[in-house]
Amino acid sequence: MQVDSGKRIREVKSKVAVVGGGVVGFSTAVCIAETLPHCSVTLLADKFSPETTSDGAAGILIVHPFPDIALERQRHWFRDSFEHLLAIAQSQDAADAGVLLSSGYTIFTDPPADKKPYWWDIVLGFRYLNERELRRFPGHTFGQAFTTIKCECDTYLHWLHKRFTKAGGKVQEKKVSSLEELQADYDVIVNCSGLGSEELAGDADLYPVRGQIVKVDAPWLQLFIRSDAGKSYIYPGSRYVTLGGTRQEGDRRLEFDPGDAEHILERCTRLEPSLCRATVLGHWVGLRPYRKNPRVEMEAPQVDGRHVVHNYGHGSYGVALAWGTAVEACKMVRLCLEERHPTAKL
Ligand SMILES: Cc1cc2nc3c(=O)[nH]c(=O)nc-3n(C[C@H](O)[C@H](O)[C@H](O)COP(=O)(O)OP(=O)(O)OC[C@H]3O[C@@H](n4cnc5c(N)ncnc54)[C@H](O)[C@@H]3O)c2cc1C
Repeated sequence: MQVDSGKRIREVKSKVAVVGGGVVGFSTAVCIAETLPHCSVTLLADKFSPETTSDGAAGILIVHPFPDIALERQRHWFRDSFEHLLAIAQSQDAADAGVLLSSGYTIFTDPPADKKPYWWDIVLGFRYLNERELRRFPGHTFGQAFTTIKCECDTYLHWLHKRFTKAGGKVQEKKVSSLEELQADYDVIVNCSGLGSEELAGDADLYPVRGQIVKVDAPWLQLFIRSDAGKSYIYPGSRYVTLGGTRQEGDRRLEFDPGDAEHILERCTRLEPSLCRATVLGHWVGLRPYRKNPRVEMEAPQVDGRHVVHNYGHGSYGVALAWGTAVEACKMVRLCLEERHPTAKL
C-alpha cells in the first residue's frame, strides 16, 4: 500500500519482467499473469514469432530424461504440459492454438534400456508394437505406439500472445543487455531467453545444437514415425509434414545446408517410401538452447535486492516442457514477491 499526496490509499502493483518471446517465455508470462492477477507482467524480447527457435520446432511432446534432475520433477513438468495442451487440443480453440493430437510409432534398431519411458502413462494408449507392425521397418527390432500432442508453435505463439494481453500482460520489443538493467523497474526478473542466456546469465554450460528440418506436402500421411531417439523423424501436422533431423553440437550456422536436406529426405524415405512422391515446401534451421539439464531455479536474492528466476536451456524439449516449467517458475516468482512485499496482494 502507498499513501499519495491526496491521502488516498492506493495499491502498489508488484512488477514482473519476463525476458524471452519464445514458447518458454510466453508460457511463463501467461502463467504468471493468470495466476498472480494483481501483478503487472511485461514480456521483453528482441525477437518474436516467426523469428524465434520455437517457431520452427516440430513441437512434438516426446522427451528423454535429463541426467541430474529428479525423475519425479521431470514427470511433473511433462504431465503439466501434456494436460494443459490436451485440454486445448480437445477444446474449441484447438485450430486457433495449433495444438493437435498426434498418433504414431517410435522405433529402435535395438530395444532401449528402458522400454517404458517415464511418461508412458501420461501420453495416451501407450503399447509396444507387435511383430506385424514392426515388419514394415526392416532393421528395427522394437517399437512403441502411442498418441501424444503436436504443438505448432508458429500458430501457438500468437495464440499465447493474445491470451497474455487478455490477462493484462504487456509486450515490449527490446534487446536486454544485462538482467541488472531491469532491476530498477521490476520486483522480479524471469529469464526465459533460451540461448540468449549464454550472455544474459553468463552461462558457459549452455551451447547451441543445430537442427535442420524439411517441410513437405504429403497429406496422405497420418502417423508420426520417429526412429532411434529422434535421429530421423516424420511428423504429420495440420499444414505440412516435418521431416528431420540433424543434431550438430556447437554449430551456429543458421543457413540451410543442402547436404543435410538430402540426408534427411533419404533417411525419411527409407522409413516411409511414399515420401518419394512428396513435394518439398521449404527448409528451416534452428539452434536448440542445450544444457545437460535445463536451468529452472530461483537465484539467491542479490545484495542489491534483485530477484531473478531462471527458466531456460530446454534443449530438444522446449515445447514439450514449456508449460510444466512455467508452472514451477511461477511458484518461484510468488515466493520472491512474498519475500519482497509480504503484505502485497498477488
Ligand atoms: C529442428 C528442431 C526441432 C525441434 N523439435 C522439437 C520438438 O518436436 N519438441 C520440442 O519440445 N522441442 C523441439 N525443439 C526444441 C525447441 O525448439 C526449443 O527447446 C525451444 O524452442 C526453446 O524455447 P525458448 O523459448 O527457450 O527459446 P527461443 O524460442 O529461442 O526464444 C528465446 C527468446 O529470448 C529472446 N532473447 C534472447 N536473448 C535476449 C536478450 N538479450 N534480450 C531480449 N530478448 C532476448 C529471443 O529474442 C527469443 O524471443 C526443436 C528444435 C529444433 C531446432
